Amino acid sequence: MNKELLGTTWQEEVKAESFVNEELLETLLLETKNPSEEEFNAVMERAKHQERLTLKEVAILLNTEDKDKIQEIFHLAKSIKERVYGNRVVLFAPLYLGNKCTNLCTYCGFKATNQDTLRKTLSLEEERKEIEALIDEGHKRLILVYGTHPDYKADYIAETVKLAYSIKNGNGEIRRVNINAAPQTIEDYKLIKDAGIGTYQIFQETYHQETYKKVHIAGEKSNFKWRLFGLSRAMEAGLDDVGIGALFGLYNWKFEVLGLMQHVEHLEKEYNVGPHTISFPRLKEANGLLKNEKYLVNDDELKRIIAILRLAVPYTGLILTAREEPELRRECMELGVSQIDAGTQIELQGYSKHKREQDLKKEQFKIGDSRSLDEVMRELMQGGFTPSFCTACYRLGRTGEHFMEFSKPGFIHNFCTPNAVLTLAEYLEDYASEETKKIGYELIEKEIDKSNVKEDIKVTLKEKLEKVKIGQRDL
Ligand code: SAM
Repeated sequence: MNKELLGTTWQEEVKAESFVNEELLETLLLETKNPSEEEFNAVMERAKHQERLTLKEVAILLNTEDKDKIQEIFHLAKSIKERVYGNRVVLFAPLYLGNKCTNLCTYCGFKATNQDTLRKTLSLEEERKEIEALIDEGHKRLILVYGTHPDYKADYIAETVKLAYSIKNGNGEIRRVNINAAPQTIEDYKLIKDAGIGTYQIFQETYHQETYKKVHIAGEKSNFKWRLFGLSRAMEAGLDDVGIGALFGLYNWKFEVLGLMQHVEHLEKEYNVGPHTISFPRLKEANGLLKNEKYLVNDDELKRIIAILRLAVPYTGLILTAREEPELRRECMELGVSQIDAGTQIELQGYSKHKREQDLKKEQFKIGDSRSLDEVMRELMQGGFTPSFCTACYRLGRTGEHFMEFSKPGFIHNFCTPNAVLTLAEYLEDYASEETKKIGYELIEKEIDKSNVKEDIKVTLKEKLEKVKIGQRDL
């Protein structure tokens, strides 16, 4: 890795070339227009074998406009999802810690110039109340979200993470804390890593530099390369579990998918491990939102983005958030999404106040799915999905490169199915409504019977389920 790109202050001038080679991406998109039958089939053949696709192969899929072929992509995405992840969907909740922000991003409700936005930073006591409320709902996995502000330095982030892990409420606790915050220096990442975080997530928003400049007018975030190499610095600091993302609706969606893929290639090449997750938020209504209609992504395009990513990086988690409506989330889940948030509140103190209505003066953007965790759990199970709160990989050190070793040969079934079933049973015992509990146990029975888990593991699993029913946890 070119050390010049890993400067220790964001103001540092980054001289080396960035890895987003825009010319290459635009050329690939032009060259692969109207791909031939042979070209398309060759890519699909490689994807069937769960090979990580090249930029050119991804460009061919992005430029596939034929309706039947798009359906083929969807079918293959569905089957890869089933092969790699089974029917599991991991659930989490976002928790906003503070919405003060010094950036001026045209699309964001937290932008510094929004004088009517109500600003708030949670005190540790207020954070405790939110986390108790989240545990009370049944959550085990959080992503803590912070604006970009001197109040949210690495030591505040580390402190809020440690507090999240320390809280016990009844049988419940938070077992994994991920982060979505501004890019840090290597030293600051180390401080945050020591607090025991899971994934550090930074969305590049757009990989197109000219657009990036236009939409990030001022503040630390206006430095494209500081952000672009933000996760490389995290890797240098020993954080091997990172999440990338693009905000769809700022620039041409096909270019952004290739940008994400270049980011994957960069991390794999430099650190031997790709991102743990990819996110693809779409632009939503926000206080003072400025948008360019030309680049808005419709539902069909979003589904294509998800399915193509599923084919391109079969072993990378794909996250779909509550920005989207329930109906669309259902469809997207089948195409390859592996993680969703549920029972989501993005207003500060929203969980403890049990907020139902959204107020864009207090929130970053409009969400599309405001259903409770119980409702989402029930619907997932009725649709044949197994909701999971599992955090075993991360707690047993199976992250980064190690995680890839486990997930690649399909090993994941023997580890993940039992863990998903046990964490689901914990939820059913401690938090579910009667209706959800009934549906949940029916699903668990079917899961154990049908799954391709080894017989001895099945026996142990049944024993452990009995233990969960009599009150034992975290088995
Ligand atoms: N300080 C953090 C940073 O630098 O990344 C703040 C991230 S923000 C709280 C989380 C993400 O929300 C952003 O990275 C962006 O992709 C997304 N976001 C912002 N405004 C949005 C909007 N109007 N609609 C949908 N997503 C939005």
